[in-house]
Amino acid sequence: MSANTPITVAYGDGIGPEIMTASLDIMHAAGARFDIEVIEVGEKVYLAGNAAGVSANAWESLRRTKVFYKAPITTPQGGGYKSLNVTTRTTFGLYANVRPCVAYAPFVRTKHAGMDVVIIRENEEDVYGGIEYRQTQDMTECLKLISRPGSERIVRYAFEYARRNGRKKVTCFTKDNIMKITDGTFHRIFDQVAAKYPDIQNEHWIVDIGAAKLADTPEAFDVLVLPNLYGDILSDVAAQIAGSVGLAGSANIGDTVAMFEAIHGSAPRRAGLNMANPSGLLLGGVLMLVHIGQVDIASTVHNAWLKTIEDGVHTYDIFQDGLSKEKVGTKEFALAVIARMGQKPATLKPANYPANAPAHKASGVSSRVPEKKDLIGVDVFLDLASAAPDELGQRLQPVAGDFQLAAIMNRGTKVWPGGAAETFCTDHWRCRFLSKKSGGVMAHGQVIELLARVADAGLDFIKTENLYNFDGKPGFS
Ligand code: NAD
Repeated sequence: MSANTPITVAYGDGIGPEIMTASLDIMHAAGARFDIEVIEVGEKVYLAGNAAGVSANAWESLRRTKVFYKAPITTPQGGGYKSLNVTTRTTFGLYANVRPCVAYAPFVRTKHAGMDVVIIRENEEDVYGGIEYRQTQDMTECLKLISRPGSERIVRYAFEYARRNGRKKVTCFTKDNIMKITDGTFHRIFDQVAAKYPDIQNEHWIVDIGAAKLADTPEAFDVLVLPNLYGDILSDVAAQIAGSVGLAGSANIGDTVAMFEAIHGSAPRRAGLNMANPSGLLLGGVLMLVHIGQVDIASTVHNAWLKTIEDGVHTYDIFQDGLSKEKVGTKEFALAVIARMGQKPATLKPANYPANAPAHKASGVSSRVPEKKDLIGVDVFLDLASAAPDELGQRLQPVAGDFQLAAIMNRGTKVWPGGAAETFCTDHWRCRFLSKKSGGVMAHGQVIELLARVADAGLDFIKTENLYNFDGKPGFS
């Protein structure tokens, strides 16, 4: 028998302590080998004046154990409190969010018997940097960041996950018909990585029709890999249509630290009533057992849990007259799982985590191939409350200097030259200046001089975006 694995545990708020106690009791009964360090996070820490909800010694514990088993916490109402999940994710670089969404029909009601989808969501990039601006009165803006290494890491992670877990197919959703550069990067990298895994099928869907298909026919999907925002939304949809958000656990994986939890919140109205379903946190615990290499215990716990669900021993949230046999509280549910330790489900697919093959393995990125980057122009954004595009064109052409004014756009629509009179314009104008010679390389100094002339013409430039070619191909939309 191997030595105990140190883990950091937070009992959380609301129903957290009850479901954490139940989950740890079940795992201990299965022979889990843990050395537990308990830390205080959440409401009490927030209300004591710590805006992040985590104390300094809690971070030390996480750095030491590198494994965080966390019950849900309550984020106090009102501004100023930072999401503990986001802080943990960004501090430790937990780039992969893994959420198995499984239907347990006919034992838990669902419209989608046979659903068994694992959603792998990129966890650090996209619009979640929270980089937002208001630079004109009428317009707001959010920066969507998708990087090559960030995309490659999550896509490789998804294919590795599929291979290690005997999955057949990885599907990617993006909106690259519209966001050709950002989502286009994610899709392109998906295709490149997929080619290295010929044993796994791969496919790409545009996210709108893909989401519709997922909600209608989730059985068609196996492993899904998604950029952050689509993954955030669709992982909740998937968990809900599988049967209940109360049944899903999730893992947040980084190269050194990993965090395991239920996907639901602290359900404060159910706190202290011995009612809550510990299944989501327990299944998060199963993911943790696999992560720390205790795969035999993971299979034992998962199978005892499946047998309990199959035997109709259900907490209130999944209890159905006719389907369920016995309505139990949190403690009784845990005892029922413990009583079935060593048993396997008869109808549901038993769990069998492969030995010596942790599901979560850090996935590296390929080294970057240098590309030739040439500055060939600049988009100058202006704040102008009421402007006619033709008049604006006339004001800007004389200040173009070494550049030529190529186009003026409003909310992405070209309004000069040759705009349509019907196009509605806001106070936010994108004015594109390109080098006079097609593809000619410009210098930063020429951009600065252009901006000085724009300012001298009495125009309020609010930001610029440099226009680059990479190996001769445009890096802008
Ligand atoms: P919630 O998930 O706590 O509750 C939503 C509904 O689901 C409620 O009706 C609740 O009774 C029920 N429910 C949730 N988990 C259950 C379980 N295990 N067993 C039985 N019923 C269950 O969502 P909420 O009410 O929007 O949020 C409550 C608090 O939780 C908020 O402070 C929120 O910020 C926090 N939250 C924390 C996390 C986290 O720590 N990861 C995640 C989501 C929400």
